[in-house]
Amino acid sequence: MTTSAPAPESVAARTMTIDGQQIEAASTTSVINPATEGEAGRAPACSAAQLDAAVAAAKRAFTTWKRDEEARRRALRHAAELLQARVGQLAVTLTMEQGKPLTHATGEVMAAAAQLKATAEMKLPYETTRDDAKAKIEIVYRPYGVVAAITPWNFPILIAMSKIAPALLAGNTMVIKPSPFTPLSTLELVETLSHALPPGVLNVVSGDNALGAQLSTHPDVRKISFTGSVPTGMKVAEVAARDLKRTTLELGGNDPAIVLDDVDPLVIAPNLFWSAFMNSGQICTAVKRIYVPEKLFEPLVAAIANVASQIKVGDGLDPNTQLGPINNAMQLERVIALVEDAKKHGAKIHTGGERLPRKGYFFAPTIITGVGDDVAIVAEEQFGPVLPLLPYKTVDDALVRANATQYGLGASVWGKDRDRARSVAQEIDAGTVWINQHLALTPNAPFGGCKHSGIGEASGRWGLAAYLQKHVVNQRFV
Ligand code: NAD
Repeated sequence: MTTSAPAPESVAARTMTIDGQQIEAASTTSVINPATEGEAGRAPACSAAQLDAAVAAAKRAFTTWKRDEEARRRALRHAAELLQARVGQLAVTLTMEQGKPLTHATGEVMAAAAQLKATAEMKLPYETTRDDAKAKIEIVYRPYGVVAAITPWNFPILIAMSKIAPALLAGNTMVIKPSPFTPLSTLELVETLSHALPPGVLNVVSGDNALGAQLSTHPDVRKISFTGSVPTGMKVAEVAARDLKRTTLELGGNDPAIVLDDVDPLVIAPNLFWSAFMNSGQICTAVKRIYVPEKLFEPLVAAIANVASQIKVGDGLDPNTQLGPINNAMQLERVIALVEDAKKHGAKIHTGGERLPRKGYFFAPTIITGVGDDVAIVAEEQFGPVLPLLPYKTVDDALVRANATQYGLGASVWGKDRDRARSVAQEIDAGTVWINQHLALTPNAPFGGCKHSGIGEASGRWGLAAYLQKHVVNQRFV
């Protein structure tokens, strides 16, 4: 898509939504546009009293919201329509604070609206395990109460919606806290949705990491739905345990792709490239390392480097841009440090390898070889536009190396022989293994990680179940 709409200098100041009201805070913080390093806008810094007010509003709203399933469905349908009408405006805000190309931002907001619309029609689970002349045993699924949603900066709208839609349909109420790097689009999202919802059902507060900690330790929060890094996820799990709050943790990944020796490197290179570099590599389940059979190594590296070198990197508001900047200065510094460390370890840089010499947090798409599995660019989650490729001798060797990590989010196998690809997929420790693709998420499958990549699942009926607890009614007829 191209756009000729003039780009605003910054988005209008945003307010928090608490108990159905638009609320300012005593102070605000600057949100940086990663493409310009200027200010994208300002976000309220939520006070402790305002956070309490948000949780109290959610707790009050729960008493009625939980009772009427049809009213919830009507409200969510209406909210989806309101969001649909705001796609263009919200996408610009998203690009300005996150950096992604406007076409991708538009796609993200549209996908969120579609998810809300579809979720409004989902069936809530209900089971009868005995129903005869003497007794009836029902398993009714009920909401938890107040859910705290904490989100990262890579897909602020879509990840927020993956929590909001199922949690609200299930009858919970919510306080959501977006990342301090990308609060503006979530503030705008919730304001939009709130016009269709009773006061207090969906509240948004903005602030730094400490606000996330306050929210996740709040005594009136019964469930925490957290998406972010493994270290923060562990902190959330620790504090949740002290109050036995339920948690869903969607954490980081270091997804391997294993290429088998029957593929044509030229055919798979573009798809493999985008599986790693979409959103400038800032996707939990992007391909983060590729294992390639020795005989295909040189042609595949050359083919992927060729794709990478032709990519147009720039401001997401420029319609020609294919990849935007890295979202924030801290993450840019991390990517630079990982690439410099790889160079020290003898890495060969086939294309990229440097920050672009212009304003903005731009890093050239980078293809790396010549590093072992123990070098940080391979062993850790880089979360940026840098991809290491590693040769292997046998598929067994590739599998051992792919699994030698605490991460276990996604993985992929690339091969023509379906049965062989399927049997290799079976050996990988990951929540999802794709074959001849990567990143494809669907409501027809749960999305979650094994090992340190998370606890619980999002998406489809499994994502809905994450916001419901089982309640047994065991009735004996007298
Ligand atoms: P992060 O862990 O730094 O922050 C995530 C959120 O947690 C932010 O809102 C932050 O303010 C908040 N937070 C920070 N400290 C907290 C604390 N002590 N208690 C409660 N909340 C706290 O992550 P990030 O840098 O924003 O996001 C990138 C990470 O997210 C990557 O590791 C990526 O793989 C992961 N991620 C995972 C998924 C998934 O579905 N598995 C999806 C997207 C991103």
